[in-house]
Amino acid sequence: GTDADGDPGDPVLELDGVGKRYGPETAVSELDLTVRDGELLTLLGPSGCGKTTTLRMIAGLEDPSEGTVTVADETVAGDGATVPPEERDVGMVFQEFALFPHLTVAENVAFGLEDPDSEAAEERVTELLDLVGLGEYGDRTPGDLSGGQRQRVALARSLAPEPDVLLLDEPFSNLDVRLRVAMREEVRRILDEAGVTAVSVTHDQEEALSISDRVAVMHDGHVEQVGSPAEVFEHPESRFVASFLGQASFLPAAVGDDSVETIIGSYDRDLLEGLTEEYTGADVDVLVRPDDLRATPANESEADGNVVRRQYTGPSFVYHVELADGNVVRCLHNHAEDFDVGEPVGVTLVADHTLAWYPAER
Ligand code: ATP
Repeated sequence: GTDADGDPGDPVLELDGVGKRYGPETAVSELDLTVRDGELLTLLGPSGCGKTTTLRMIAGLEDPSEGTVTVADETVAGDGATVPPEERDVGMVFQEFALFPHLTVAENVAFGLEDPDSEAAEERVTELLDLVGLGEYGDRTPGDLSGGQRQRVALARSLAPEPDVLLLDEPFSNLDVRLRVAMREEVRRILDEAGVTAVSVTHDQEEALSISDRVAVMHDGHVEQVGSPAEVFEHPESRFVASFLGQASFLPAAVGDDSVETIIGSYDRDLLEGLTEEYTGADVDVLVRPDDLRATPANESEADGNVVRRQYTGPSFVYHVELADGNVVRCLHNHAEDFDVGEPVGVTLVADHTLAWYPAER
């Protein structure tokens, strides 16, 4: 979203009050989004929250029931306009890549170009195959390529006509886990080098946080929060955003004059981000993620709870600890601090940054 000088680029795509209804069902409502030149914005949310519908309205595959869609200063939907998909400067990479199996890689990439047999098209195809690292594969057919290579071809094909906006629908979901992580770095590099403005859709939070300039977290057809990955992860504005990102737990706390009291101990009020005077005496829920908590041997402190699950992930352990109030929190350990399931443990807060909190719903 920012150029080399740190200035946000010009808006390339704008959604203004966009909604979509299917009969009585509202798929998307009152959606406002601005995507700036060269930016990758990811729509992130659970199944059914309206991500794909939003993408399809940008592409022109669905008409919005209300609101306007503007691409490069042209209103393409709403306000009386209905520009069909092929007349929008919008490219799309589909989940299943949708390559033509009987055409070569080079022919697939040339497909979207105005004059695919021209010398200019040939040059453009060469340029794009080099960009995606498939310079040597132009004569192959998609059937002779790996999943990751097929995805690069799909990307090259949709970039060939130099779209104003590129849409990516769950671009990594058809790749195996290992390839997925490698390909998302690769796709980010290709988008950067192409300088294209892009919108992607995923329900994978790690993917969204690792490749995007900004993330729009969607819930029930609307955008709950838009911000940089760090903003949405560290300062979630709603309980929904908080619980959707990271392995979140909520720790009940009573706010006193100088401290906050929780079931695992008393902490300084300053621990809670932006806690104002009016909350003195109130109950709040503090957002805690595994890296905020550590389990400690019970004999070093009073036991706060019991280990109910021990999750081994390779480089780390996550201990799930049930506290006396029945609440389960997760504690991240880099090394095997060997606690057994059923073992009583203490839980302490790693209070090295302020924590987000929400008024209690009790
Ligand atoms: P997923 O991650 O599962 O693809 P999504 O976030 O992309 O989900 P959408 O596909 O946009 O969600 O769907 C949003 C809502 O609109 C859902 O409740 C869905 O059932 C509904 N919906 C989508 N398309 C149609 C349609 N053609 N007719 C009726 N309802 C629809």
